[in-house]
Amino acid sequence: MALLELDGVTAGYTAVDALNGISLRVEDGEIVTLLGANGAGKTTTLRTISGLMKPRSGSIRFMGQEIAGASANAIVRLGLSHVPEGRRIFPGLTVRENILLGSSNRGRVPRAELDRDLEAAFGIFPDILKFADSPGWTLSGGQQQMVAVARGLMARPKLLMLDEPSLGLAPIIVQQVFRTIADIRARGTTVLLVEQNAHMALSIADRGYVLETGRLIVEGPPATLLDNEEVRAAYLGGR
Ligand code: ATP
Repeated sequence: MALLELDGVTAGYTAVDALNGISLRVEDGEIVTLLGANGAGKTTTLRTISGLMKPRSGSIRFMGQEIAGASANAIVRLGLSHVPEGRRIFPGLTVRENILLGSSNRGRVPRAELDRDLEAAFGIFPDILKFADSPGWTLSGGQQQMVAVARGLMARPKLLMLDEPSLGLAPIIVQQVFRTIADIRARGTTVLLVEQNAHMALSIADRGYVLETGRLIVEGPPATLLDNEEVRAAYLGGR
């Protein structure tokens, strides 16, 4: 049984469907990447999985349970955490407070347990530890992205969905973010990664899907996608 399985999912904002029958799966322990141009429907796919949007039809199963149409709160409690595009950290809260917000769906958690999880998060992102008591606005873009991912991990997800974590970051920071994603998987969390940076995403992914105007056009391991003429021309700079 796949950890996450979508079957014929359609969703949209207007009369026109933004997602047109999406079927994909993520196995336990994988990093799967969802690639595609601007407006292809990548963000909509994640929003539909995490319950921020209701699908119009189709099935979404997480750990064998149907979650299509369930509330975002119920879905995060099942162990599916979504780090949206654009980081969205609270500038007036400290880094520690921002990260702790990610545990708010776990109900009452003993302080000692939260402290352990916080320590684990800072262990994954040692560069932000020294800013633990600084307000969010003092961080660079890359550091804010790390806080956003750390916040997502505080939900103790089985599946972490990341929406364009490399967006707007300097190349050296992008490399660091991707290394961290590989590290998160090595620690046991499955990852669904939406990216425009296809080369970097495929360098850490086990499998990928390419989305084009609401439809999946190719699926496979990185080598298959890197070999596909259509994919190369459209998403890999024709190289
Ligand atoms: P990007 O990389 O730009 O975020 P994407 O692949 O994530 O692109 P989506 O944001 O999912 O694409 O958009 C899919 C389609 O839905 C596009 O045609 C977009 O214009 C449309 N769309 C997205 N958000 C809205 C909205 N709030 N209202 C109406 N249409 C929307």
